[in-house]
Amino acid sequence: MKACTVKPGDLDSAGVEEIPGPPPADGDILVEGLYVGVCGTDVEISVEGYGKPPSGHERLVLFHESLGRVLDAPSGAPVAAGDLVAGVVRRPDPVPCEPCSKDQWDFCRNGQFTERGINGRDGYGSQQWRIEPKFVIKLDPSLDRLGVLLEPTSVVAKAWDQIDKIGARAVVTPERALVTGAGPIGMLAAMIGRQRGLDVTVLDRVTDGPKPDMVRDLGATYVTSLDALPGPPDVVVEATGIGQLVFDVLGHAAPDAIVCLTGISSGTRTVDVQADAVNKEMVLSNQVVVGSVNAGLDNYTQAAAALAKADNDWLARLITRTVPMPQWPQALKREPDDIKVVVDLQA
Ligand code: BGC
Repeated sequence: MKACTVKPGDLDSAGVEEIPGPPPADGDILVEGLYVGVCGTDVEISVEGYGKPPSGHERLVLFHESLGRVLDAPSGAPVAAGDLVAGVVRRPDPVPCEPCSKDQWDFCRNGQFTERGINGRDGYGSQQWRIEPKFVIKLDPSLDRLGVLLEPTSVVAKAWDQIDKIGARAVVTPERALVTGAGPIGMLAAMIGRQRGLDVTVLDRVTDGPKPDMVRDLGATYVTSLDALPGPPDVVVEATGIGQLVFDVLGHAAPDAIVCLTGISSGTRTVDVQADAVNKEMVLSNQVVVGSVNAGLDNYTQAAAALAKADNDWLARLITRTVPMPQWPQALKREPDDIKVVVDLQA
């Protein structure tokens, strides 16, 4: 079968490779790969050498944002032939650490977890893949190819879940949410914020292209500067990975605000920070800054529900480019109006 493979850190090696069918050890469920989504992590793997192939392999089957159709599943499995599905990314560490032993692999403590298409396991960028019953997620069939958005939505669902858990510390009902960054994560965070009935503002740099209208069509406000915020946010979902913004946002946030960081910085920028002032402000107003990565099973379920509730026409506008499998390396190069780029594994 054909697969999208790369030697991490060697962009020129990215291409389509003919490899044997998916190994039975990957799981009892056989899936036909339909689409994969491309994200910054895939670029980091291909360009900067983040992640690693399975042990003993030089090349990694890339991609962790999946969509497929079940070809074969054993009886008793949670899915059956014909179901539209996506796969969970992370697998618990083998030791296991305490969170991994309780299925909270997204909170792994020793770093020995593996991730499909990223760390130590082949991904979903192949025409067929296998998966264990525990790690397959069934999607609403009406989502069709929009189901490829499940994994990024799961990352966002975890962020909101963390915000809820931390918010339970006080009787504060959040009203205003700020999302920084109008990429796929920011857009999906804004979508879930609106589904929760919050007054959502999205901040991004661009003034044209599809993003401002998409934000407005959610019933949210679009701004390009923190000075234009309609009011101090109770909740912030940071999705740019720009470190400076974290400090800038804190200065604009409400008392008791929860700032959840989801963007993975790849830069090396340094900034001067008035550390004592930040410390004082955070203490005197109970502010929380929390990092959030990956997703647990519950978050995938929450994400599937959020997508099922969403407007499919709006979701479809998030997928701004579809690249056929033979040309997949082109999907790693950002184009001006890209939001989510997907690779068609059957084209
Ligand atoms: C993925 C996460 C993963 C993280 C770190 C992100 O792009 O969405 O599932 O845990 O990269 O490897």
